[in-house]
Amino acid sequence: MSVVSIVRLQDDDVGGAIKKSVALTRSFECVELEGSRVLIKPNVVKPVRSGSGIVTDARLIEAVTKLVLEKGPREVVIGEGSSVGYDFPDRVDSMHCMQVAGVLEVAEKFGVKVVDLNRDKQVEVKVPHAFVMETFAIAKTAWEADVILSLPVIKTHVRTGITCGLKNMKGVLPGEEKKRTHRCGLDRAIVDLNRVVKPKITIVDGIIGAQGTNFDEADRVPLNLILAGHDVVAVDAVCAAVAGFDVREIFHLQLAAEARLGIADLNLIEVRGEKIEAVRHPFITFLQAAQHLYGGANIVEKASCTGCMGELVSTFIYLKEAGFHDRLPNLTLIMGSPDKIPPSNEPTVVLGRCARKYKKLGVFVPGCPPHGIKITDEVCGVLNLDKEIVHQSIVELHSL
Ligand code: SF4
Repeated sequence: MSVVSIVRLQDDDVGGAIKKSVALTRSFECVELEGSRVLIKPNVVKPVRSGSGIVTDARLIEAVTKLVLEKGPREVVIGEGSSVGYDFPDRVDSMHCMQVAGVLEVAEKFGVKVVDLNRDKQVEVKVPHAFVMETFAIAKTAWEADVILSLPVIKTHVRTGITCGLKNMKGVLPGEEKKRTHRCGLDRAIVDLNRVVKPKITIVDGIIGAQGTNFDEADRVPLNLILAGHDVVAVDAVCAAVAGFDVREIFHLQLAAEARLGIADLNLIEVRGEKIEAVRHPFITFLQAAQHLYGGANIVEKASCTGCMGELVSTFIYLKEAGFHDRLPNLTLIMGSPDKIPPSNEPTVVLGRCARKYKKLGVFVPGCPPHGIKITDEVCGVLNLDKEIVHQSIVELHSL
């Protein structure tokens, strides 16, 4: 059984909530910090201020750094590799992102080193029993750390439904490898990454989450929570449940459990502190928001997971970039396991293994999940769209 704590902030006391949260899971007693090399890994994907719900709150990083230093580690490093669109040296890079988010100020206060994991020396690692990434390069600082302490935020995500502790590890990949995870199947790549760089403690910034497309202030969700645990899969499962997701539908969480990285079954997770039901705040999913932004397509689905949904959202984005999104209302998409399909004369695309019993109703795209580019190609085919134009947009998007 894995243990996860949920603590509600009182009087905006972030440090107090963290102490309570890690005491409930005995996180700092069970992990050897004395004499260890510790990497504190916040989520600072882009240059936005602390408290925005997009990056880890600087108060949380400060409180955790203080607690770690009290344990007498050999070395403490705060490290992050910002996301692909925010990795341009001398313009926007991880250091700039961490400066805007208040991380550099925290590091200076405690005299700890800060590393841009995108620019760190790289180590080529082999992944035993990999789903899709048998080898990849990671930042040396992450590879050599005795303890990785992950500080993610709870956010919805275009491809994976939710992003939290497991996906936070993507920051240890240099830019080209970050891009590769998208090409080879993000859910499985996240699991492969966590097979070799797994946080020993995860403390989640649940002060403010981000829902929908995460684009603007209306997407911020004040939760006022800190969550913690040793089992990052269990921590993510609890966070997903708090955000109103059915954990069984979060594909990378199910894959992580299948790979025995941790427990994703809420029945096998002991939650200490607040109960999930007492703090649950359903987020608007990326797909719900993206349907409004990118589509109007008729989606017939039941119990589909974020694997198919995430890839489908990519298709919406590609078609929007290519200027074809106004054609989507003429399309029916079937995925998951719907009980019945309403009669339709519209062009129809059937997505993924779960929906294969309906494959005769339209063009079938096999896979679990089918790749977003393959879905896009078939949608182009049934709607008579120019594939060349769409592929050019895909290249431009992925070369950011
Ligand atoms: S086919 Fe799609 S909905 Fe079914 S398990 Fe695979 S990714 Fe999920």
